Amino acid sequence: MAKSIMEDPKNRVCWACGAYAPEEHHVFYGVANRKKSEKYGLKVHLCSRCHRDNLDGVHGQNKKLDQKLKEAGQRTFEQIYGSREMFIQIFGKNYIQEDEKMNKVVLMGRLTRDPEVRYSQGERSMAIARYTLAVERRGRKSQDGNGQQADFINCIAFDKAGEFAEKYFRQGQRVLIAGRIQTGSYTNRDGQKVYTTDVIVDDQEFADSKGGQNGGGRQQQETPSDIGDGFMNIPDGVEDEGLPFN
Ligand SMILES: [Zn+2]
Ligand SMILES: [Zn+2]
Repeated sequence: MAKSIMEDPKNRVCWACGAYAPEEHHVFYGVANRKKSEKYGLKVHLCSRCHRDNLDGVHGQNKKLDQKLKEAGQRTFEQIYGSREMFIQIFGKNYIQEDEKMNKVVLMGRLTRDPEVRYSQGERSMAIARYTLAVERRGRKSQDGNGQQADFINCIAFDKAGEFAEKYFRQGQRVLIAGRIQTGSYTNRDGQKVYTTDVIVDDQEFADSKGGQNGGGRQQQETPSDIGDGFMNIPDGVEDEGLPFN
């Protein structure tokens, strides 16, 4: 039996209210999730009221406490085991909702190259697509001292969104995405710490209108036939190298 990573394993006090609590609650429950909660130590003590009461219990109608616990569980998991990516891969869902309220990004830009895609290992293989958007700065005057006219923003799309990007996104296309900023760091081959800023994509669609028709397909819709597999027309003025702008 794994120890709890959310509290001192010797604790016998309710996580929610501090009352005496001999019962242990698996934060992610249901047949499959309970086992995973056990495996990763995502469990807390709850008093019988906070646990099983019809109104105040997590197994009753207290959805607020349930959500709070799941969010805390996911955060602890991410701190200990490393990443949100891994959590979502294992539990199949992101329980942290406040990110959406606090951290929201909308970008329209051109793909600097075809997405780079890899598939995660594990119980459920998941597509992880990385691409860079060149987002034009407002007004040509706003270029900096180096004459830079665009910002190059790294984006990461997971799972279904990743598969969609792999299948349909190609260099030079203009796309519209919504997501959130995620920062991180890793150590490179020279032993130096590198800080990263990426946009985690929640929603993406084509922003180019083809032949003056109403602009491109949404992810959920039918795929436009002209951007199927294989060859794709690069929009006018986009060269193989360099800035994808006219
Ligand atoms: Zn309690
Ligand atoms: Zn329980």
